Amino acid sequence: MRELLRIAAMNAYDLLTENFRSSLLKGALGLDATLGAEHGARAPGTVLTLLYRWASQSRAGAFGAAQPAGGMGAVTQAMARAAREAGVQIRTAARVKRILVEGDHVRGVLLESGETIPAESVISNADPKTTFLALLGPEYLDTDFVRRIDHFRSKGLVAKVHLALDAAPRFNGVDAAGLAGRLLVSPSLEYLELAFNPSKYREVPANPVLEITVPSIKDPSLAPAGKHVMSINVMFVPYELGADAAGARAQLLSNVLATLERYAPGVRDRITASEVLTPRDLEREFGMAGGHWHHGALAFDQFFVTRPVPGAAGYSTPMPGLYLCGAGSHPGGGVMGIAGRNAARKIIHEGN
Ligand SMILES: Cc1cc2nc3c(=O)[nH]c(=O)nc-3n(C[C@H](O)[C@H](O)[C@H](O)COP(=O)(O)OP(=O)(O)OC[C@H]3O[C@@H](n4cnc5c(N)ncnc54)[C@H](O)[C@@H]3O)c2cc1C
Repeated sequence: MRELLRIAAMNAYDLLTENFRSSLLKGALGLDATLGAEHGARAPGTVLTLLYRWASQSRAGAFGAAQPAGGMGAVTQAMARAAREAGVQIRTAARVKRILVEGDHVRGVLLESGETIPAESVISNADPKTTFLALLGPEYLDTDFVRRIDHFRSKGLVAKVHLALDAAPRFNGVDAAGLAGRLLVSPSLEYLELAFNPSKYREVPANPVLEITVPSIKDPSLAPAGKHVMSINVMFVPYELGADAAGARAQLLSNVLATLERYAPGVRDRITASEVLTPRDLEREFGMAGGHWHHGALAFDQFFVTRPVPGAAGYSTPMPGLYLCGAGSHPGGGVMGIAGRNAARKIIHEGN
């Protein structure tokens, strides 16, 4: 406990330097410490995000890549099947316009189609800003709470690049088994810090930190026979990209491919299609304000009993009948469902 208290508020750079000599190992662990954070590895609190990452590690281990057969969509399909079997009615393509309130209590939702669905409880996994400011409306909340939600830091710092390849890529020094795992380009803490710096000035990194998987190696159903898909998380890509966002996106792809080519010579010639999703694209495509994977930065002041903000940290909210159950509540995002399970327990406990 004493050691936890000592390191909890430290930065990952100092802790890793204290414990390891290998630049490669420190660079890899530094990536884990900053994934989902809003700073580089020298920022206080990055030990917390490193511990968070390890606490939620999969059976494949902290450095493995757990991958459901059929892709990530297979997880939600399995959940949907189980829910339907339990009598749940699921409706998709039914965008909520407003959460309805009457007599200081939630009474249901109004869909964009104009349809009203009456309900005594509304449980939202939309991000906190969307839930409170767009769907409920600040008029139902006190000023201090609105100010806190407004300041909940939710701008993402990770972009996604998808590549379609006409053959399996070859990475220097990586065998067939390694290609099915998680490949990291973060050779040192210095490299990581230099990749982070431009994001402070709304610029994309010249030499980006990459987390790469080739999901079609383990699951050939994800691509036509003999072909492959590569999925790359590009760290430290800011939400705001300056005046020339289209130019910055093109520059980002070019920088990612140049970096990739250094580790996987010839990969560029195998690309048949590419897609770049910046945090702003993720915001638009997946309906999450700020485009942050965890709906909000993982940081001491937005963690545990203060996630997302005091007053809404235990899944219930200042509006009776309205609950949070998504990544913006404790313990954050990732495909783990703990926030949802905790919220369900709370709601059952309250008898709603
Ligand atoms: C590109 C990317 C890659 C990721 N990779 C991984 C990974 O490899 N491993 C991992 O563990 N995690 C990963 N994550 C993180 C993980 O996907 C999220 O943390 C997780 O999905 C959060 O789940 P959630 O249910 O809380 O929120 P979400 O999955 O964001 O779901 C919120 C839902 O609310 C919907 N919504 C919003 N507004 C409305 C409205 N008005 N009406 C109706 N619906 C609305 C949205 O469309 C969305 O479907 C990744 C995230 C991204 C963006």
